[in-house]
Amino acid sequence: MSSILEKIKQLAIQNSNETIANRQHIHQNPELSFHEFETQAFIEAQLASYGIESEKIANTGLIALIEGRNPSKKVIALRADIDALPILETNDLPYKSKNTGVMHACGHDVHASSLLATAKILQEIKGDFEGTVKLLFQPAEEKAPGGASIMIKEGALENPKPNGILGQHVATNIPVGKIGFREGMYMASADELYLTVKGLGGHGAMPDNCIDPVVIASHIIVAMQQIISRNKNPRLPSVLTFGKFIANGATNVIPDEVKIEGTFRAMDETWRAEGLAKMKKLAEGMAEAMGGSCDFHVLKGYPFLQNNPELTRRMKSAAIEYMGEENVIDLDIWMAAEDFAFYTHHVDACFYRLGIRNEANGIIHGVHTPNFNIDEKALVHGPGLMAWMAIQELSQI
Ligand SMILES: [Zn+2]
Ligand SMILES: [Zn+2]
Repeated sequence: MSSILEKIKQLAIQNSNETIANRQHIHQNPELSFHEFETQAFIEAQLASYGIESEKIANTGLIALIEGRNPSKKVIALRADIDALPILETNDLPYKSKNTGVMHACGHDVHASSLLATAKILQEIKGDFEGTVKLLFQPAEEKAPGGASIMIKEGALENPKPNGILGQHVATNIPVGKIGFREGMYMASADELYLTVKGLGGHGAMPDNCIDPVVIASHIIVAMQQIISRNKNPRLPSVLTFGKFIANGATNVIPDEVKIEGTFRAMDETWRAEGLAKMKKLAEGMAEAMGGSCDFHVLKGYPFLQNNPELTRRMKSAAIEYMGEENVIDLDIWMAAEDFAFYTHHVDACFYRLGIRNEANGIIHGVHTPNFNIDEKALVHGPGLMAWMAIQELSQI
């Protein structure tokens, strides 16, 4: 076992009280997507106290470099998202959210404090590695168009250009102490669909005088599922769900229009575009054939997330060295979306998961719930692991 690994482990343990205090501070002062001004100031000040200069990007984000020896040799980027959600926290904790109705319910407080701790370690040992670590503290993961897309537009992946990027996310289904990886496609693209089916309302007893949008919309919903089952390559995962269907008539009233809203998820950008085009054609054509019309509107979300297989394999073996083989697990595909996906279409990427579950302590609640919490032991090994993975990758020729 290399002495540098031991050094990182020691520093991670030594810093863990500060890491946990930072997490609790960020947790207590959550800010919504695109409004992370105090969080940005806090992170900026922490980095400065470690001797790391940072630059503002994407309005409420930060970017910073830690240069080792021979800094131009290779560059690895490390990303943490920093925004919170519009959720009223129900946890009874000394560091419960002070910002009523806003909560770090997706663990971005963990990601931010963990990356701060990783930065502190790497700054301390920068004489021990070659290359440059680029830190990305990214706003607005939770809100379209996603802070990642703005960071990229504003040049986060240029000057210097990273050879690879790592990101971690807490996992409520993985016990604390374990880390999960998956090569290749991992998370889905997510587009929002908004359909307005228009007909002609009237008396429910006289449908012949009406164009019934409820029947048209019902046919559209059923037919659209066949795009998934009949047109999609069966080897590619994809989901279409309509969770909203508003036909505001009555038992005896046919309404003028029906509004339908849904989500379309895919693991392939070509299929994503084809699927959306087919849905639009089918919805519009079907409504027209039945005498009505359909406005089909898509709010484009994040792309699918692809983990570079070679980088992910290397990071998995680095994690095995740091955590032990029994603590590194393989992940299944997950049909949720994440804006880290934008980076994965520009640079070799590895998005992995940090276990935070502890059933014995009642830490079992999912992300985006008002009683989400984490086992803070994850903040002892999480930051050290990321530092170790970063310098392992930099040591690659
Ligand atoms: Zn989230
Ligand atoms: Zn998240």
